[in-house]
Amino acid sequence: MNPLKDIFRLIFPSQCAICRTPLGHGISDICLNCRLELPLTYYWKKVDNPVSLKFWGHMPIETGSAYFYYMNSGRWRSIIHNFKYRKGWRYAQMLGEWYGAELRDSGNYDDIDVVIPIPLHPLKKIKRGYNQSDWIAKGVAKELGVKVDYHSVKRKKNNISQTQLSHDDRWENVDDIFTVKNPSAIAGKHILLIDDVLTTGATIISCGESINKIVPGCKFSVAVLALAGNSHALPPKYPESKKE
Ligand SMILES: [Zn+2]
Repeated sequence: MNPLKDIFRLIFPSQCAICRTPLGHGISDICLNCRLELPLTYYWKKVDNPVSLKFWGHMPIETGSAYFYYMNSGRWRSIIHNFKYRKGWRYAQMLGEWYGAELRDSGNYDDIDVVIPIPLHPLKKIKRGYNQSDWIAKGVAKELGVKVDYHSVKRKKNNISQTQLSHDDRWENVDDIFTVKNPSAIAGKHILLIDDVLTTGATIISCGESINKIVPGCKFSVAVLALAGNSHALPPKYPESKKE
């Protein structure tokens, strides 16, 4: 108890980061109404779900899931958009904890050994100040009771954003952009790869391929926070037209 803090709260009650209504005692950042409006996927409850299916055929994962649907409208959009700015890391960690508790309770993520956030290129990380996926990973790992490995996997190429590229160009843009700096740290482990938003999955697949090439024998699962509304199945990596 801190009386000064209580008086301050009485004069300046903290507000919900999304709807701006004053928060009740003991509730921080997001009100219960907004939390209930989060459009959850519940994919983590089932091993074979639309997110797992996106990866199977491209990358051997045990299971995959997304916490919620990323809508282009709605009250949650701005908070995800703001992950990359100001104090967005706080919300990234908070949502990571909410998600991690669901993953833990599902029983489908019991044998995860280590959580690895998809790394940003060091230059991009310096420019942004942090990698939002690091904070999501921190929240998830806390609930799963495992460690986050921030250092073993690195992004060696500062590739351009995937958002403006065609499907075929997306594969090329992420080809061989990751490397493993510390193979012995992750050898033989079941790795949970974490990213913020899933569209095609090409970046995560590229990261898994690089790890697999350098440290064969790892197992993978994938947990992304948000599934993009324009998310769709990946095209074949080597389309027929390109073989000719
Ligand atoms: Zn609210």
